[in-house]
Amino acid sequence: MTSEDRKAALDAIASEVRVCRRCRLSEQRTQAVPGEGHPDTEVMFVGEGPGQNEDRLGRPFVGAAGSLLEELLAMVGWRREDVFITNVVKCRPPGNRDPEADEMAACAPFLRRQLEVLDPALVVTLGRFSLQTFMPGDTISRVHGTTRPIDPASGARAATGYAMYHPAAALRQAALRETMQRDMAAIPETLMRARDGRATLPEAAVVATEPAPGAVLTGASSSSAPPAGATITAASDSRVIAPAISSIMPTSTAESTTDMNATIPDDQLGLF
Ligand code: SF4
Repeated sequence: MTSEDRKAALDAIASEVRVCRRCRLSEQRTQAVPGEGHPDTEVMFVGEGPGQNEDRLGRPFVGAAGSLLEELLAMVGWRREDVFITNVVKCRPPGNRDPEADEMAACAPFLRRQLEVLDPALVVTLGRFSLQTFMPGDTISRVHGTTRPIDPASGARAATGYAMYHPAAALRQAALRETMQRDMAAIPETLMRARDGRATLPEAAVVATEPAPGAVLTGASSSSAPPAGATITAASDSRVIAPAISSIMPTSTAESTTDMNATIPDDQLGLF
Protein backbone atom coordinates (compact mmCIF):
# COMPACT_ATOMS: atom_id res chain seq x y z
CA MET A 1 0.00 0.00 0.00
CA THR A 2 1.42 3.37 -0.95
CA SER A 3 1.38 6.45 1.23
CA GLU A 4 -1.38 7.86 -0.94
CA ASP A 5 -3.38 4.65 -0.59
CA ARG A 6 -3.05 4.76 3.17
CA LYS A 7 -4.11 8.40 3.32
CA ALA A 8 -7.12 7.71 1.10
CA ALA A 9 -8.10 4.71 3.22
CA LEU A 10 -7.79 6.71 6.45
CA ASP A 11 -9.82 9.56 4.94
CA ALA A 12 -12.52 7.10 3.92
CA ILE A 13 -12.71 5.72 7.46
CA ALA A 14 -12.88 9.26 8.85
CA SER A 15 -15.74 10.13 6.52
CA GLU A 16 -17.71 7.13 7.76
CA VAL A 17 -17.00 8.01 11.38
CA ARG A 18 -18.26 11.56 10.95
CA VAL A 19 -21.72 10.37 9.93
CA CYS A 20 -21.86 7.21 12.02
CA ARG A 21 -24.98 6.50 14.11
CA ARG A 22 -24.10 3.01 15.25
CA CYS A 23 -24.35 3.79 18.94
CA ARG A 24 -26.00 6.23 21.34
CA LEU A 25 -22.84 8.36 21.56
CA SER A 26 -23.88 9.90 18.25
CA GLU A 27 -26.93 11.49 19.88
CA GLN A 28 -25.16 14.14 21.96
CA ARG A 29 -21.92 14.63 20.09
CA THR A 30 -21.09 17.90 18.38
CA GLN A 31 -18.59 16.24 16.07
CA ALA A 32 -17.19 12.75 15.84
CA VAL A 33 -13.42 12.55 16.21
CA PRO A 34 -11.95 9.97 13.84
CA GLY A 35 -8.29 10.59 14.67
CA GLU A 36 -5.43 12.13 12.77
CA GLY A 37 -1.77 11.80 12.00
CA HIS A 38 0.79 10.79 9.43
CA PRO A 39 -0.33 8.00 7.12
CA ASP A 40 3.15 6.47 7.12
CA THR A 41 3.86 6.53 10.80
CA GLU A 42 4.93 3.45 12.72
CA VAL A 43 3.42 4.68 15.99
CA MET A 44 -0.23 4.94 17.00
CA PHE A 45 -1.43 6.51 20.25
CA VAL A 46 -4.87 5.30 21.28
CA GLY A 47 -6.79 7.09 24.01
CA GLU A 48 -10.21 6.48 25.45
CA GLY A 49 -12.63 8.92 23.83
CA PRO A 50 -13.03 12.56 22.89
CA GLY A 51 -13.48 15.15 25.60
CA GLN A 52 -15.28 18.47 25.43
CA ASN A 53 -12.67 20.30 23.34
CA GLU A 54 -12.23 17.35 21.02
CA ASP A 55 -15.99 17.10 20.54
CA ARG A 56 -16.12 20.80 19.69
CA LEU A 57 -13.21 20.77 17.24
CA GLY A 58 -13.45 17.24 15.81
CA ARG A 59 -9.80 16.54 16.58
CA PRO A 60 -8.22 14.22 19.16
CA PHE A 61 -6.22 15.45 22.14
CA VAL A 62 -6.58 19.19 21.63
CA GLY A 63 -7.28 20.27 25.21
CA ALA A 64 -4.97 20.37 28.20
CA ALA A 65 -4.35 16.63 27.96
CA GLY A 66 -3.41 17.11 24.33
CA SER A 67 -0.95 19.84 25.24
CA LEU A 68 0.69 17.51 27.72
CA LEU A 69 0.84 14.75 25.13
CA GLU A 70 2.52 17.14 22.70
CA GLU A 71 4.95 18.15 25.43
CA LEU A 72 5.78 14.52 26.08
CA LEU A 73 6.22 13.80 22.38
CA ALA A 74 8.59 16.75 22.10
CA MET A 75 10.76 15.13 24.76
CA VAL A 76 11.68 12.44 22.25
CA GLY A 77 11.88 14.84 19.33
CA TRP A 78 8.49 14.01 17.83
CA ARG A 79 5.48 16.12 16.89
CA ARG A 80 1.89 15.02 16.91
CA GLU A 81 1.92 15.05 13.10
CA ASP A 82 4.61 12.36 13.15
CA VAL A 83 2.38 9.79 14.82
CA PHE A 84 -1.29 8.83 14.54
CA ILE A 85 -3.60 9.73 17.41
CA THR A 86 -7.05 8.30 17.89
CA ASN A 87 -9.42 6.89 20.52
CA VAL A 88 -11.25 3.70 21.32
CA VAL A 89 -14.60 5.47 20.84
CA LYS A 90 -14.82 8.27 18.32
CA CYS A 91 -17.65 10.24 19.91
CA ARG A 92 -17.68 11.95 23.29
CA PRO A 93 -19.39 10.10 26.11
CA PRO A 94 -21.73 12.68 27.69
CA GLY A 95 -20.22 14.35 30.74
CA ASN A 96 -16.96 12.51 30.04
CA ARG A 97 -18.41 9.36 31.55
CA ASP A 98 -16.79 6.02 30.85
CA PRO A 99 -17.62 4.52 27.48
CA GLU A 100 -19.87 1.51 27.84
CA ALA A 101 -19.11 -1.95 26.53
CA ASP A 102 -21.68 -1.87 23.73
CA GLU A 103 -20.42 1.55 22.62
CA MET A 104 -16.84 0.32 22.44
CA ALA A 105 -17.99 -2.76 20.56
CA ALA A 106 -19.96 -0.65 18.08
CA CYS A 107 -16.95 1.57 17.43
CA ALA A 108 -14.32 -1.18 17.35
CA PRO A 109 -14.49 -1.78 13.59
CA PHE A 110 -13.26 1.77 12.94
CA LEU A 111 -10.20 1.32 15.14
CA ARG A 112 -9.55 -2.09 13.65
CA ARG A 113 -9.61 -0.65 10.13
CA GLN A 114 -7.27 2.17 11.14
CA LEU A 115 -4.87 -0.40 12.55
CA GLU A 116 -5.09 -2.47 9.38
CA VAL A 117 -4.32 0.54 7.20
CA LEU A 118 -1.48 1.95 9.29
CA ASP A 119 0.06 -1.41 10.18
CA PRO A 120 1.90 0.19 13.13
CA ALA A 121 4.95 -1.30 14.75
CA LEU A 122 4.01 0.24 18.08
CA VAL A 123 0.60 0.92 19.63
CA VAL A 124 0.79 3.16 22.69
CA THR A 125 -2.28 2.79 24.88
CA LEU A 126 -3.26 5.88 26.85
CA GLY A 127 -5.30 5.04 29.91
CA ARG A 128 -7.38 2.19 31.19
CA PHE A 129 -9.92 1.67 28.43
CA SER A 130 -7.33 1.65 25.70
CA LEU A 131 -5.21 -0.74 27.75
CA GLN A 132 -8.17 -3.08 28.16
CA THR A 133 -8.81 -2.97 24.44
CA PHE A 134 -5.33 -4.17 23.58
CA MET A 135 -4.12 -5.88 26.74
CA PRO A 136 -7.21 -7.19 28.52
CA GLY A 137 -6.77 -8.14 32.14
CA ASP A 138 -3.86 -5.83 32.90
CA THR A 139 -4.06 -2.78 35.13
CA ILE A 140 -2.42 0.48 34.17
CA SER A 141 -0.72 1.00 37.51
CA ARG A 142 1.07 -2.33 37.15
CA VAL A 143 1.97 -2.40 33.46
CA HIS A 144 2.56 1.20 32.38
CA GLY A 145 5.96 1.52 30.76
CA THR A 146 5.96 -2.11 29.65
CA THR A 147 5.16 -3.90 26.42
CA ARG A 148 2.87 -6.71 25.32
CA PRO A 149 2.35 -8.26 21.90
CA ILE A 150 -0.83 -7.01 20.25
CA ASP A 151 -3.32 -9.63 19.09
CA PRO A 152 -3.45 -9.49 15.27
CA ALA A 153 -7.23 -9.85 15.59
CA SER A 154 -7.16 -6.19 16.67
CA GLY A 155 -6.22 -5.29 13.11
CA ALA A 156 -2.57 -4.58 13.96
CA ARG A 157 -0.76 -7.23 11.94
CA ALA A 158 2.47 -7.29 13.91
CA ALA A 159 2.54 -4.62 16.58
CA THR A 160 3.91 -4.24 20.06
CA GLY A 161 1.67 -2.64 22.65
CA TYR A 162 3.10 -0.17 25.13
CA ALA A 163 1.03 1.00 28.07
CA MET A 164 0.95 4.55 29.39
CA TYR A 165 -1.31 6.51 31.67
CA HIS A 166 -3.74 8.88 30.03
CA PRO A 167 -2.30 12.42 30.03
CA ALA A 168 -5.44 13.61 31.83
CA ALA A 169 -4.42 11.43 34.76
CA ALA A 170 -1.21 13.43 35.09
CA LEU A 171 -3.21 16.64 35.04
CA ARG A 172 -5.25 15.37 37.97
CA GLN A 173 -2.38 13.81 39.86
CA ALA A 174 0.86 15.76 39.47
CA ALA A 175 3.08 12.89 40.57
CA LEU A 176 2.13 10.99 37.42
CA ARG A 177 3.69 13.60 35.17
CA GLU A 178 7.17 12.35 35.99
CA THR A 179 5.99 8.79 35.49
CA MET A 180 4.66 9.68 32.06
CA GLN A 181 7.89 11.45 31.18
CA ARG A 182 9.86 8.31 32.02
CA ASP A 183 7.47 6.13 30.08
CA MET A 184 7.56 8.41 27.06
CA ALA A 185 11.36 8.56 27.16
CA ALA A 186 11.45 4.79 26.70
CA ILE A 187 9.31 4.82 23.56
CA PRO A 188 12.04 5.31 20.93
CA GLU A 189 13.96 2.31 22.19
CA THR A 190 10.72 0.36 22.48
CA LEU A 191 9.95 1.20 18.88
CA MET A 192 13.34 -0.03 17.75
CA ARG A 193 12.72 -3.33 19.53
CA ALA A 194 9.27 -3.56 18.00
CA ARG A 195 10.83 -3.04 14.60
CA ASP A 196 13.35 -5.76 15.25
CA GLY A 197 10.48 -8.09 16.11
CA ARG A 198 8.76 -7.33 12.82
CA ALA A 199 12.01 -7.94 10.95
CA THR A 200 11.91 -11.58 12.05
CA LEU A 201 8.50 -12.17 10.50
CA PRO A 202 8.25 -14.50 7.51
CA GLU A 203 8.77 -12.72 4.23
CA ALA A 204 5.22 -13.32 3.07
CA ALA A 205 3.83 -11.58 6.13
CA VAL A 206 5.66 -8.33 5.52
CA VAL A 207 4.06 -5.49 3.63
CA ALA A 208 6.44 -3.33 1.64
CA THR A 209 5.56 0.35 1.89
CA GLU A 210 6.47 3.42 -0.06
CA PRO A 211 7.45 6.68 1.60
CA ALA A 212 5.45 9.87 1.50
CA PRO A 213 6.97 12.15 -1.13
CA GLY A 214 9.70 14.16 0.53
CA ALA A 215 8.76 12.94 3.97
CA VAL A 216 11.58 13.25 6.49
CA LEU A 217 9.70 12.63 9.66
CA THR A 218 10.42 11.12 12.98
CA GLY A 219 8.22 8.07 13.16
CA ALA A 220 7.36 8.27 9.51
CA SER A 221 8.42 6.96 6.18
CA SER A 222 11.56 8.68 5.03
CA SER A 223 13.45 6.53 2.58
CA SER A 224 12.91 4.53 -0.55
CA ALA A 225 10.64 1.52 -0.51
CA PRO A 226 12.21 -1.94 -0.27
CA PRO A 227 12.15 -4.24 -3.28
CA ALA A 228 8.90 -6.10 -3.79
CA GLY A 229 8.68 -8.98 -1.37
CA ALA A 230 11.66 -7.84 0.65
CA THR A 231 11.71 -8.63 4.33
CA ILE A 232 11.63 -5.43 6.35
CA THR A 233 14.56 -5.04 8.69
CA ALA A 234 15.76 -2.17 10.82
CA ALA A 235 18.13 -1.31 8.02
CA SER A 236 15.73 -1.59 5.08
CA ASP A 237 12.39 -0.60 6.58
CA SER A 238 10.96 2.23 4.52
CA ARG A 239 9.62 3.79 7.72
CA VAL A 240 12.96 3.94 9.51
CA ILE A 241 13.11 6.64 12.13
CA ALA A 242 15.94 9.14 12.18
CA PRO A 243 19.23 7.62 13.40
CA ALA A 244 19.35 10.27 16.11
CA ILE A 245 16.81 8.15 17.94
CA SER A 246 19.48 6.46 20.05
CA SER A 247 21.04 9.73 21.13
CA ILE A 248 17.78 11.01 22.56
CA MET A 249 17.12 7.91 24.63
CA PRO A 250 17.71 8.95 28.23
CA THR A 251 16.34 5.78 29.80
CA SER A 252 15.27 2.24 29.03
CA THR A 253 12.00 0.36 29.12
CA ALA A 254 13.29 -1.78 31.95
CA GLU A 255 14.11 1.28 34.02
CA SER A 256 10.73 2.80 33.38
CA THR A 257 8.98 -0.22 34.87
CA THR A 258 10.46 0.61 38.27
CA ASP A 259 8.01 3.21 39.31
CA MET A 260 7.24 4.90 42.57
CA ASN A 261 3.60 5.27 41.57
CA ALA A 262 3.17 1.65 40.64
CA THR A 263 1.15 0.98 43.74
CA ILE A 264 -1.50 3.60 43.02
CA PRO A 265 -4.72 1.66 42.50
CA ASP A 266 -6.55 2.36 39.28
CA ASP A 267 -9.72 3.21 41.11
CA GLN A 268 -7.92 6.17 42.69
CA LEU A 269 -7.16 7.49 39.25
CA GLY A 270 -10.73 7.84 38.12
CA LEU A 271 -11.07 7.14 34.43
CA PHE A 272 -7.41 6.50 34.04
FE1 SF4 B 1 -20.31 5.51 15.61
FE2 SF4 B 1 -18.22 5.13 17.20
FE3 SF4 B 1 -19.55 7.44 17.30
FE4 SF4 B 1 -20.68 5.22 18.26
S1 SF4 B 1 -18.82 6.22 19.06
S2 SF4 B 1 -21.65 6.74 16.92
S3 SF4 B 1 -19.89 3.66 16.83
S4 SF4 B 1 -18.37 6.65 15.56
